[in-house]
Amino acid sequence: MPRILDGVAIAAAIKQEVTEEASALAVRGIQPGLAAVLVGNVAASEIYVRNKVQTCADLGIFSELITPPATVTTEEMLDLVATLNRRDEIDGILIQLPLPAHVDTKALLDAIDPAKDVDGFHPVNAGRLQAGRSALVPCTPAGIIEILKRSNIPIAGQHAVVVGRSDIVGKPAAMLLLHQNATVTICHSKTRNLGEITRQADILVAAIGRPGFITAEMVKPGATLVDVGINRITEKVEFERFFAGNAKREAAFAKNGSVIVGDIDPKAFELAGAYTPVPGGVGKLTIAMLMANTVRAAKMRRGN
Ligand code: NAP
Repeated sequence: MPRILDGVAIAAAIKQEVTEEASALAVRGIQPGLAAVLVGNVAASEIYVRNKVQTCADLGIFSELITPPATVTTEEMLDLVATLNRRDEIDGILIQLPLPAHVDTKALLDAIDPAKDVDGFHPVNAGRLQAGRSALVPCTPAGIIEILKRSNIPIAGQHAVVVGRSDIVGKPAAMLLLHQNATVTICHSKTRNLGEITRQADILVAAIGRPGFITAEMVKPGATLVDVGINRITEKVEFERFFAGNAKREAAFAKNGSVIVGDIDPKAFELAGAYTPVPGGVGKLTIAMLMANTVRAAKMRRGN
C-alpha cells in the first residue's frame, strides 16, 4: 500500500511551531505583521486571502487586509507598495495574484522590499535561492520540501523530476531539491519523451496545471509522487475518467457539481511508494509556509 503524505498534519505542525515563534517574539515586544493586498472581486482570490488573514489571527500574527478596487492603476499600486515598504510594523507584503490585466504585475512584485517579500517572488530572493543563500523562498515549493523531509523521504542522491518550470512552483522546487542534493531534471511543454524521463524519477513533482496529466504509465513503481496541481473538474466524462467507482468523490460531485483533481491521475498513486493527495497534500502547506516566512522576515528585518 502506498504511503499517504499527510499535508494537513504537517501544516498543523508547522503552524504550531510558528505560533511558538510568534509568542517568543511577543515577549520582546515584536509582533510579526502581514499586509495582504486583494484587488477587485475575484471569488477564488477572496477565499485564499481571507484564509491567509484568518490564519494570521490564529497564529498571533498581525495582519491588515487592503482591498483596492479592480480599477486601481499600476501607479496607485506602486504608491501602496512604497507605503507598505516604509511601515515598520509590516514584515510581509503579499499581493494576491492574478491582478487585473491593466496592472503591471512584474513592476509591482519588483517594487516590494525583498526583505518583506514573503511570497519569495522578487528577483533578489530568486537569485539568493539559486545561489544557495538565505532567502525568503516561495511558499508552495518550500512546502514540498517540508512534506518530504518531515515524512523522512530521502532526497539526497535521488533522481527528482520536476514537471513544470514556472517561477512560482517548478523552478524554485527544482532549485530546493538540488540544494538537498537530489539529481534534478526539469521538464516542460517542449520536453520530448516526457514519459521516459518521468519513469526514471524516484521523486516526481507535477506542477503543470492539467488534470491527471501524469498517468500510471509515466510513473516508476515505488516512486514518491508530489502532486502540486489544483484543477477543478466539472465535466461528467472527465470525472468518470478519474473517479468512477469512488463513492466519496461521486457523492461530492453529485453535491457540488465539481471536484478537485491534481496533475497526477489518481490511478498512478496506486503504484507509488508514497504520494501527496489532492486535496490534503501540498496545497495545505502553502499558507503554513507563508506564515513561517512572515515570522522569518520579522526576525531577519528586526535584527533577530
Ligand atoms: P504555470 O505557470 O501554468 O506553469 C505550468 C508549467 O507546466 C509550465 O512550465 C509548462 O511548460 C508546463 N506544462 C504545461 N503543459 C505541459 C505538458 N504538456 N508537458 C509538460 N509540461 C507542461 O502553472 P503553476 O503556477 O506552476 O501551477 C502549476 C499547478 O500547480 C496548477 O495546477 C496550479 O493550480 C497549482 N498550484 C498549486 C499551489 C498550491 O498548492 N498552493 C500553488 C501554486 C500553483 P512551459 O513552461 O513550457 O509552458
